[in-house]
Amino acid sequence: MITVLSGGTGTPKLIRGLRQILRDNEITVIVNTAEDLHQSGHYVSPDVDTVTYLFAGILNTDTWWGIKGDTLDTYHAMEKIGYKEPLPLGERDRATNIARTSFMQSGMTLTEATQKICEGYGISAKILPMSDQEVTSYVVTEDGSLMHYQEYWVGKRGNVPITGIRRVTADESPLMATDAVISAIEESDGVLIGPSNPVTSIGPILECGGVREALSKKFVAAVSPFIGNRPVSGPAAALMTAWGYEPNSAGTRKVYGDVVDLFVQDMKDTVEVEGAMKLDTMMTNLKKAESLAWDILSYMPGLSR
Ligand code: GDP
Repeated sequence: MITVLSGGTGTPKLIRGLRQILRDNEITVIVNTAEDLHQSGHYVSPDVDTVTYLFAGILNTDTWWGIKGDTLDTYHAMEKIGYKEPLPLGERDRATNIARTSFMQSGMTLTEATQKICEGYGISAKILPMSDQEVTSYVVTEDGSLMHYQEYWVGKRGNVPITGIRRVTADESPLMATDAVISAIEESDGVLIGPSNPVTSIGPILECGGVREALSKKFVAAVSPFIGNRPVSGPAAALMTAWGYEPNSAGTRKVYGDVVDLFVQDMKDTVEVEGAMKLDTMMTNLKKAESLAWDILSYMPGLSR
């Protein structure tokens, strides 16, 4: 069993490669939920859904969110009458969110609702939200006010100067991982931190109470999402700077700290990271993702293959 810590773009690319090597029932994915939001009365969990759709074989891999071939009729109809949703949800994607919200309103935790959705899609991998507590990543803007990460990135395309990052639980209690998350790490032969955003995807998972301690007993490999001073995509550089870290692989290594045993950076990355292994991490197609997954697995001592 391998456990992967994931956000919604970079790591899912690597999981796609892993699935060429391992059976789905040998893969557990712990997914970031700090980008979740309430929208039109629905509880939306974008990263959980991306990973779910990937395993269901229906993910739109042009955008790495939503369902391929999905339609946006509802979104556009609402837009026409003056109501613009923060996140454009396709019809089939919306169905997931309606169902999840209904499951949760009937008393299920996010973990239980996710499991039910996975059963519906016939998924044999284990997909675990990092926590059942509601938690949100905010960016701090120049006037000191907080802006939801989705508003910053999807709404404003990152075109807002930011000075900090805040993680806030809905009831302000300390953020805890679920028991299922901790057990999954304990039972795994190795853990893989994919090339996801260190601030808004992996950071929140590592902040969940119990996760770092569980990881410290396992072999953990991590892949950097940066090449030089730039992430492969997205706003990670501005977020890292606002968080007080160098926007590169060295800063990423520092965020992850001593839980990581093997740090992988791209072979074109000239930033010095002591002990790092250099590989081609640009997963521009499935073959490249599979090849990267093979290389990393071959360095994981606990994996019997
Ligand atoms: P989000 O939840 O949509 O923000 O997605 P993630 O946090 O999972 O992934 C975003 C990060 O993935 C960005 O910082 C990118 O630099 C990184 N990324 C995307 N594709 C690749 C790739 O092919 N290789 C590497 N090394 N990083 C990638």
